[in-house]
Amino acid sequence: MNWKDIYGRQQILSVLRAAVASGNVAHAYLFCGPEGIGKKTLAKALSVALVCQRSLEEACGNCPDCNKSKTLSHPDIHWIMPEANKSLKISQTRELKRAAYFKPHQARYQVFIVERAETLTAEAANSLLVLLEEPPPLSVFILLASSPKALLPTVVSRCQLFQLPRLDTASLTSILNAVDRQLSLAELKRILQGAEGIPGRALLLAREDRQQSSAEAVKLLVQLLANQPIIALADKLAADENLLLSLEALLAVLRDIMLLKSAGNSRLTMSTGDGVSLAPLLAKLSLFNCMAATEVVLKLEKDLQSSVNVRLAVERALRRLKEVFENVDGSGGTL
Ligand SMILES: [Zn+2]
Repeated sequence: MNWKDIYGRQQILSVLRAAVASGNVAHAYLFCGPEGIGKKTLAKALSVALVCQRSLEEACGNCPDCNKSKTLSHPDIHWIMPEANKSLKISQTRELKRAAYFKPHQARYQVFIVERAETLTAEAANSLLVLLEEPPPLSVFILLASSPKALLPTVVSRCQLFQLPRLDTASLTSILNAVDRQLSLAELKRILQGAEGIPGRALLLAREDRQQSSAEAVKLLVQLLANQPIIALADKLAADENLLLSLEALLAVLRDIMLLKSAGNSRLTMSTGDGVSLAPLLAKLSLFNCMAATEVVLKLEKDLQSSVNVRLAVERALRRLKEVFENVDGSGGTL
């Protein structure tokens, strides 16, 4: 997470960047906005900029500090959050207070990120206030809350406040493109409408779409392996409004199976990350099957770019996929 990973917040970024670069960092920041607006993302970018020891301008992304920040294991970055549906308790702010007066372990600053600060109990808020009134010199507090109105005015007045506005369409599109595959125009339009300027919501909607596409791709491959009639499968696939996206999902599933077979690491796969099980395919497809099938799907994608009869091209590809899966040489090996 770096400044460059934040989209559409130039004004806020220029203030924060200048503060970090000059060493003129506020003792406390308050980022406000609705769920999914990007408060945590901004807090991550600010905290890594504060601990990176190689560069003041832009967190380098490679040093031990940056790497630990990525895995949320940096000893000088503390995340404080309430338990699910509960309040931030006095015991948590007491612990924070105790830690805040120590020197940083290895970085220039210690950073304390308080999530859902609106859930602070009155007692906990008052204890935090005492800390903000006499801030330890090398500690920086980043409070995240839905609205400044949800906090004690005395707490708000001790913080540099940033209200995170909703993002414009161009920024949301950049975020979607950065994390996801290419979306079709229709899909993008639907997601942007549903997201209402909130990036977290846009990502969630895109992910739901991807989940569904992955599940459909697995289903199609299972049906092919189960010898279901090609004609019916081709009818359905060719009529798919998002045919190209469905083919992308097929490629992603095939790639995931190859990854699982060669590296055995499900953390690298997108389908399993989306909660889609590849188990019905793993036992039946070899690496060779998947490689050959990938070629078939890529060829179909290419064919569809020229003016072909879509229905026929799809049917031809499905027949070819079936042949690939039946290929004894491909399926019998240990790979
Ligand atoms: Zn660094």
